[in-house]
Amino acid sequence: MVPPKANVVIIGAGVNGLSTAYHLALKGVKDIVVVEKEKFIAAGSTGLSAGGIRQQFSTEVNIRMAMYSVKKFERFKEEMDEDISFHQVGYLFLLTDPEDVELFRQSYNLQRSLGLEVEWLGPDEVRKRWPYINTEDVLAATYCPTDGYADPYSVANGYAKQARRLGVKIELETEVTGIKVEGGKVKGVETTKGPIEAPIVVNTAGPYARLIGKMIGVDIPVDPYRRQVFITDAFPDIPPDWPMTIDFKYHWYMRKEGPGLLMGMSDMTEPPSFNMNVDWSFMEKVVEHGVKRIPILEKARIMRGWAGLYEVTPDSQPIIDKIPGIEGFYCAVGFSGHGFMLSPATGLVMSELITEGKAVTFDITEFRYNRFTEEIKGEKHVI
Ligand SMILES: Cc1cc2nc3c(=O)[nH]c(=O)nc-3n(C[C@H](O)[C@H](O)[C@H](O)COP(=O)(O)OP(=O)(O)OC[C@H]3O[C@@H](n4cnc5c(N)ncnc54)[C@H](O)[C@@H]3O)c2cc1C
Repeated sequence: MVPPKANVVIIGAGVNGLSTAYHLALKGVKDIVVVEKEKFIAAGSTGLSAGGIRQQFSTEVNIRMAMYSVKKFERFKEEMDEDISFHQVGYLFLLTDPEDVELFRQSYNLQRSLGLEVEWLGPDEVRKRWPYINTEDVLAATYCPTDGYADPYSVANGYAKQARRLGVKIELETEVTGIKVEGGKVKGVETTKGPIEAPIVVNTAGPYARLIGKMIGVDIPVDPYRRQVFITDAFPDIPPDWPMTIDFKYHWYMRKEGPGLLMGMSDMTEPPSFNMNVDWSFMEKVVEHGVKRIPILEKARIMRGWAGLYEVTPDSQPIIDKIPGIEGFYCAVGFSGHGFMLSPATGLVMSELITEGKAVTFDITEFRYNRFTEEIKGEKHVI
């Protein structure tokens, strides 16, 4: 059975639910319960993520939160006692469309103005540094050496371990089936292992965020989209310090994964669904595009693949807010493919929102729940 009472119930033990729990506990909040429907933590999008960590965004708030998060990932072992295999090999964005060059020029200027050491490269420089890349249609590129990738499970585990140490309870194999609201105030949740009374409920349910909102008649505009990733056999031609390489126009990416490679591509034409089956015919498209961009990938042998869900909002920005009209109901959802990399900042901001009533470290106005009724700017660097 679950504890009958809590101060805060967090729905979902993905990286954002766990980071929120940890940061709240660090601020001294007692009786926090994280409720997870699956058998283990990080079983949703977190464990299925490509683990990419970048600071190259188009909006100021994302750049600031990502820069903060990178600092935290760099110190994760010391601060959280967990080795997260952070490979700071950089992110290389290849741009082949003049409109993207214009967008990235603006973003580059913004990133530099915020102190990010990002480089603007021409095709010759790209070829010189990474000779395997076919640059015949590349107009420009950006490279940030402090970007990279890490192991999402380990990050989630670090937060879970430290949260538990601070007294947080994580209830696995426990599904939230309802939320109790009385007089416009949250009163707790119903779960498959009994009710939990609580004045604060946090929705960090990833792609299932909308279903959680439905439980109390709130529409949370987050849709699930299948995204697939494939892993090759050992591929020593590509060295370990190879950057996460993004062919931006095609939503294609590749990085090292142990001795092999990890490759993915977003099919932007696929409608939303909870389908997580691997489509092996799509794998052929991913490899085909890879061979065009990096011809030596012709020798790559795919060993395995998986599919997970992006949790996408209409403007590709998360919703991090207390939901107006329902006291005690908070959301950190809709990360649109970049929720792992922002998780240190997200947990911090959520803890501020809940304990102080507003975010203090970052201006998260752009993440407010109500923005979809207004003109929205949104994040444009979406992979
Ligand atoms: C293929 C792929 C590649 C990606 N690559 C990257 C990347 O390179 N970098 C990056 O930053 N992000 C990436 N992402 C996105 C990233 O994985 C997510 O944004 C992030 O993991 C979201 O974490 P979360 O904790 O918010 O949600 P999740 O990890 O999805 O956690 C939500 C949890 O809530 C649980 N839950 C749902 N409903 C209930 C309920 N009713 N009761 C109890 N529990 C419930 C779920 O089981 C789940 O464990 C990728 C995603 C995919 C699928």
